[in-house]
Amino acid sequence: MNKLAIALTASLGLGFAAVGAQAQGAYPQRPITMIVPFAAGGPTDVIARIVGDHMSRTLGQQIVIENVAGAGGTTGITRASQAQPDGYTIMMGHMGTHGAAPALYPNLKYDPTKDFAPIGLAAGTPIVIVARKDFPAADLKGFLEYVKANGDKVNMAHAGVGSVSHMTGIFFSSVMKTKPTMVTYSGTGPALNDLMANTVDYMTDQIVNVAPQIQGNNIKAFAIATAQRSPALPNVPTTKEAGLDGFEVSAWNAVFAPKGTPSEITKKLNDALVKALGDEGTRKRLLDLGGVLPADAERTPEALQKLVESEVARWTPVLKAGTKTE
Ligand code: ASP
Repeated sequence: MNKLAIALTASLGLGFAAVGAQAQGAYPQRPITMIVPFAAGGPTDVIARIVGDHMSRTLGQQIVIENVAGAGGTTGITRASQAQPDGYTIMMGHMGTHGAAPALYPNLKYDPTKDFAPIGLAAGTPIVIVARKDFPAADLKGFLEYVKANGDKVNMAHAGVGSVSHMTGIFFSSVMKTKPTMVTYSGTGPALNDLMANTVDYMTDQIVNVAPQIQGNNIKAFAIATAQRSPALPNVPTTKEAGLDGFEVSAWNAVFAPKGTPSEITKKLNDALVKALGDEGTRKRLLDLGGVLPADAERTPEALQKLVESEVARWTPVLKAGTKTE
């Protein structure tokens, strides 16, 4: 072999060695897909993009959001749960996909308590009762009277059976003993567009989706379903203040990986999530939309696993009773 050939062989060899080292190198080596199980622009998508943005910076690889909508979020979560557990497919789940779904889908292809590697809570999202701008009521009392008097002539938007807007809407109807016509969307992003276009009447949605449009007076907010008002919407009364007892509910949103994802990867993902929640800019983006940041102790995979177990147990009887009377 002449000198040039030897030099070439050596450098090629080095090249292969470098490629090999990279392929087996530290996670992550390429972009990560985060499945959002609803349409773009809705609350799940907004939270995924805000925390995903900062997680990408920590991980040194982009988190690419993929919206896989359908069946109240269960289509996207089913797909994500069946992905290779290699850290390159993760998902943003929530109180619906990982709390309500088992009660509402007898043939659900995943078990929220068994088929995931929990990463951590991302944000809490109080529920707000919102209506189209020209809804003929000035306050919650007037709204309830109207909904009761007009029965199924009133339309309630939701993001599919088992979504947060659906489950809290059912809960609301069962507390109120009302029976609106339910209109299904692929997410509450598109539902909000119809609310602003006055083509649907109301919904019970997560604050991060509706806060900007309430602040801009593009929709009406009758009450927030929490014990305290939200700093993001100081003029919106709590349900209790507005005269309604028994309807207090906040959703939660959390990052999961498929079951079997190696623990060194889930640790890195949790680390990146915790860093995002500690970042000033990320916190501000979530807080400005009315998001509630989880306490430190709530940010671990173990705490999320416990939450999922308790949520499935909490919602199953409520939803089974709620859907029976419909
Ligand atoms: N997460 C919302 C819901 O469950 C839907 C969405 O994110 O668009 O109602």
